[in-house]
Amino acid sequence: MIESLFSRIESKREELISFTQDLVRIPTINPPGKDYIKCAELLGNRLAKSGFSLIYERANNSPGDSDRYPRHNVIARIEGQHSGPCIHFNGHLDVVVPGRGWTVDPFEGLVQDGKIYGRGTCDMKGGLSAAVIAMEAILEENIHFPGAIEISGTVDEETGGYGGVAFLAEKGFFSKPRVDHVIIPEPLNVDRVCLGHRGAWWAEVETFGRIAHGSMPFLGDSAIRHMSAFLELLESRLFPALDKKQTSMPVVPEGARRSTLNLQAVHGGEAESFDGMPSPCVPDSCRLIMDRRFLIEENIAEVKAEVTSLLDELADSRLNFRYQIRDIMEFLPTMTDADAPVVQAVSSALKNILGKTPEHIISPGTYDQKHIARIGHLHDCIAYGPGILDLAHQPDEYIVIDDMVTAAKVMAASTLELLGARS
Ligand SMILES: [Zn+2]
Repeated sequence: MIESLFSRIESKREELISFTQDLVRIPTINPPGKDYIKCAELLGNRLAKSGFSLIYERANNSPGDSDRYPRHNVIARIEGQHSGPCIHFNGHLDVVVPGRGWTVDPFEGLVQDGKIYGRGTCDMKGGLSAAVIAMEAILEENIHFPGAIEISGTVDEETGGYGGVAFLAEKGFFSKPRVDHVIIPEPLNVDRVCLGHRGAWWAEVETFGRIAHGSMPFLGDSAIRHMSAFLELLESRLFPALDKKQTSMPVVPEGARRSTLNLQAVHGGEAESFDGMPSPCVPDSCRLIMDRRFLIEENIAEVKAEVTSLLDELADSRLNFRYQIRDIMEFLPTMTDADAPVVQAVSSALKNILGKTPEHIISPGTYDQKHIARIGHLHDCIAYGPGILDLAHQPDEYIVIDDMVTAAKVMAASTLELLGARS
C-alpha cells in the first residue's frame, strides 16, 4: 500500500509545483491582509474536487479585519469509512512583505534548478501544497481509513494569528473531539520535527521627564537619561543573567537555547522625523519596546518581575525616576511530548523515508501552535514541513521541490499511521 502511495505522490509532482505556484501568485501580504478570500477559495475549491466539505469562517472584528481586508479562513474535512480519530493539517495563507533585494519576481512562482521561488514558497505555501497533494494521493489510491482528515488555510499567522487559528480555536475547531492530531507544515527543514516554541513577552517601558530649554537642561528633567540608566541596568545585570539561563528545550539555532532579550525600538524627545532643524528641548518622554523570549523552565510572572524590579530599584534610588510599563503581547512556551502520537508517527515515517532518525527541535520564535495548545487544549501538535527555516522572510525565498515531495510522503504515511489505516 505504502509503495503505491509513494509512487502516486511522485506522479503528482507537476501538480504539486503548479498548485504551489497558484498559491504564491495570490499576494496575501500581511499587513494589511490582502486577497485572503481569493486564496482561501483557491484552496477550498481544490479540496472540494476531492470530496472535502468546506466551512468558511470570517473573523469579524479581529485585528485588521475590515470589509476591504476581511479575515477569511477555510476548513476542509473529509470523513473516513467509519468513525475514528481526526488528523488536521493547518497552513497559514498570509505572507510577509517581499522587502528589498529580490532578483526574481516575488509573486511569479519561477521554477529554476529544482526550486520554486517566491514570497511564501518556504513560509509556508509550499508546505500547505505538499499536505494537499499528500491527502489527494491517499484518496486517489482509495485507501480505506477510519476517522477524518482536515486541512485548513488560516490567516494572520504573521501578525499573531488572532483572526486565524486563535479565532478558530475559540470556536472549537482545534479541540477534541473534533480533532486529535495536528501537523503545521511551517518551514523547519524537511528532516526535523518541531515540538513547539519558546515563549514571548513584548512590553513597552516609558520613562518620564520635564520639558525645558536645551541650553539649560538643569531646569528640566531628561526622560532619555532616565531611560539610559535603565538600559545600563539591563546591560550590567539582566543580559548577563539571561545568558546564564540554559534550557532543556532543543531550540535551534543553538544560540537561542537560552533566554533572550531584544531591544526592539527606542524613541525619545524630538519626533522621529522632522523637517528642517531640531529644536532645543529636554525630552519629557522616552519609550523602549522590549521583546523577551523565554523558556519552558521560566514562568511569565518571574520574567516580568526581572524587568519591573530593576525599574523599581531606579524609582527608589534615582531622583525623579518615574516609569510606566505596558504589556503588548504574551505567549507561553509550548513543547509537545517527544512520545506523543503525532511526534512518533512523523518521526518513524521520516526514518523510513530518509533512513535516519530525525532531530526533534524547538523553534526560537512562536507560531500558531500556541493557540492550539492554549485555547484548544490540544497537545498532540507539531510543526513539520519542507521549507528551510533560514529562508523564511528573506529575499529570493524558495522551496526545494524534492523536499516538498519528501514532506508529502511523510505527511501521507503519518496520516495512515495516526488514523490506523494499516493494510
Ligand atoms: Zn510561517
